[in-house]
Amino acid sequence: MAQKVRVRFAPSPTGPLHIGGVRTALYNYLFAKKHGGDFVLRIEDTDSQRFVPGAEEYIIESLTWLGLQFDEGTHLGGAYAPYRQSDRKEIYRKYVDMLVEKGAAYIAFDTPQELEAKRAAVPNFQYDASTRGEMRNSLTMDKEEVKNLIDAGNQYVVRFRIEAEQEVTVNDVIRGEVKYNSSVLDDKVLYKSADNLPTYHLANIVDDHLMEITHVIRGEEWLPSAPLHVLLYKAFGWEETMPQFAHLPLLLKPEGNGKLSKRDGDRLGFPVFPLEWKDPKTGEISSGYRESGYLPEAVINFLALLGWNPGNDQEIMSMDELIQLFSLEKCSKSGAKFDYEKGKWFNHQYIQLRPDSEIANIYYPILEEKGVDVNIGYVETVVGLVKERVSFVKELWDQSSFFFIAPTSYDEKVVKKRWKEDSPAQMTELVEVLKGIEDFSSHNQEEIVKAWIESKGYHLGNVMNAFRLAIVGESKGPHMFDITAVIGKDETIARLEKAVKEIKN
Ligand code: GLU
Repeated sequence: MAQKVRVRFAPSPTGPLHIGGVRTALYNYLFAKKHGGDFVLRIEDTDSQRFVPGAEEYIIESLTWLGLQFDEGTHLGGAYAPYRQSDRKEIYRKYVDMLVEKGAAYIAFDTPQELEAKRAAVPNFQYDASTRGEMRNSLTMDKEEVKNLIDAGNQYVVRFRIEAEQEVTVNDVIRGEVKYNSSVLDDKVLYKSADNLPTYHLANIVDDHLMEITHVIRGEEWLPSAPLHVLLYKAFGWEETMPQFAHLPLLLKPEGNGKLSKRDGDRLGFPVFPLEWKDPKTGEISSGYRESGYLPEAVINFLALLGWNPGNDQEIMSMDELIQLFSLEKCSKSGAKFDYEKGKWFNHQYIQLRPDSEIANIYYPILEEKGVDVNIGYVETVVGLVKERVSFVKELWDQSSFFFIAPTSYDEKVVKKRWKEDSPAQMTELVEVLKGIEDFSSHNQEEIVKAWIESKGYHLGNVMNAFRLAIVGESKGPHMFDITAVIGKDETIARLEKAVKEIKN
């Protein structure tokens, strides 16, 4: 039987999760679910310098909001716990020693000052096969000296010994075989005695191995690390169980020139984070998709198509459909432009797809804030009439306030254009016509009012424009008789009478 698919999302808690990170999590999730596999959350926090409090909680809350359920993780536990690298300190030391014993890694004592001096003296200095012989490390010192330095409490690092001029092949599901010459790599630091912690590279490989990860799906920015990772698997003798790599395309600026950044969001007015984030140091607030009024399913659908497509034009896909259709082979190599307008379009589509009752529930608190007190059934009816006009729930107020409160003023330009000399007289007559209508349904009103207009030889457009101005206060809104049917006969008549009294042209 084939091995069970296990993927991990392995963020470093260095701040709010970027929208590109959300896409990485999504693709991992889709891939895992498609293959009946496990989706693991591992927190890579070995760099204490960059640790930001609250970031881990933020990541979990974001992905929970979006419906990306983990099978194992820091918040859930699981058979491979712990899932936070700072809680796995004890595990790594053994593997560092293993590499040193095998001669695949060595101990280096060069101080930051010494390295700095070397860099200043040698242009393009790289700590590697060509230079390590000139440095202070266990390859250039004898055993005794190394032991003495360690015993005396000198700080050191363990470096990976990469031999020059080897061909390293990264097998990437999306990019095919990517070949590197090992000489471009430096002898990466794998461990630092100062904090008794491994660096990202070592912890990442050891954990993927121990957690039996089968596929490493991550952003393109990690591709340059992949040859080093391949060499680490080899050094450990783990080639057999090395995961399959898939490096996802970059998310590009809307204009397509370069990587999407927070500044693009600020510049063009869209969020680049799933949830609002308050920087714990500066107190600065960054907007989030959730707080901006996005429905999670719209964000998911939007992100799913940034770097992947099902091979046809289908655009609207539920999570279940995405799981069915997703494949790494259909991911693109080239960057995906972050088309924010498309994101809005998806939200518009999903507002149409959600039942009116659900949209009404999201709208209700906004109405309460406006001081409106109506029953939820009424809100649901209004939502059904206007939702096709909005991309966000918060835009509903602008499109529907007149269902809840009578106009307190009348748009001057509209008055000028639409309130004709005979409008007051016609509207007064209309009041009488409406008074006589028993069945105040939209359809019945329309029939009776139009018959009256025709019998009088009035101009249909002029009457309806004045009618709308009186009811709405301006020239917008859904079908006129739908509005009056919802606000009811008494309210309609009251608004007409008020307009006749108040509109002066
Ligand atoms: N900790 C890395 C990150 O922050 C993980 C990269 C990987 O998935 O290997 O993205």
